[in-house]
Amino acid sequence: MNRRENLKCIAGAAALLSLGIGRAVAQTAPSGPFTLPPLGYAFDALEPHIDAQTMMIHHDRHHAAYVNNANQIAQSWTELGTMPIEKVLSNLAAVPENVRAGVRNNVGGHWNHSFFWELMAPGGAKEPGGDLKSAIEAAFGGVPAMTDKVNAAGGARFGSGWAWLVVNKDKKLEIISTANQDTPLELGAQAVLGVDVWEHAYYLKYQNRRPDYLKAWWNTVNWTKAGENFKKATT
Ligand code: MN
Repeated sequence: MNRRENLKCIAGAAALLSLGIGRAVAQTAPSGPFTLPPLGYAFDALEPHIDAQTMMIHHDRHHAAYVNNANQIAQSWTELGTMPIEKVLSNLAAVPENVRAGVRNNVGGHWNHSFFWELMAPGGAKEPGGDLKSAIEAAFGGVPAMTDKVNAAGGARFGSGWAWLVVNKDKKLEIISTANQDTPLELGAQAVLGVDVWEHAYYLKYQNRRPDYLKAWWNTVNWTKAGENFKKATT
């Protein structure tokens, strides 16, 4: 690279940094062991319920930042890259204290978002079927009662976090909420479905109206995927 090209490169990097996306493209950022999974569908595929710009920023910036931060942590705690992510997140007490908060937030954020994109993949069943439907009816008295409870849990989450339908450690369906990027895994639970209630998930379209976002979000759920999650958690 000659001096002129080098200067161009520096100017380009500065421009990207000024856009706030330097972290994701910095040349010094390690590229593994974690990678940002492709969304798997178009940013506008969940319109009108979730808008394309929100999906782009959410996946390409927010999720990318969790992946990048997790890779930075893996440089200092190299065991992180050798263990299954679920094992790490289900036993955070075993994570060295100096990186534990970073792992909780960033590896947790990576796991939560990877789960979330797949749950919303277009196509698939529009309502729960088979064993999952029966289990929801037995546990909550019906699918609408279950969705009301998830919406209430998401609405009641102060600040940032998630609402979940899980199979808990007693193998029972339960609705929970986690703060920040905490995952159901650390509670010994396995997620069937989960909804991101961080403002970054809905603010551009819904502003302060989190309940409206939650209500609309159900239109994006791929119940075939939720059924697979349930089967995995119960067999
Ligand atoms: Mn998010």
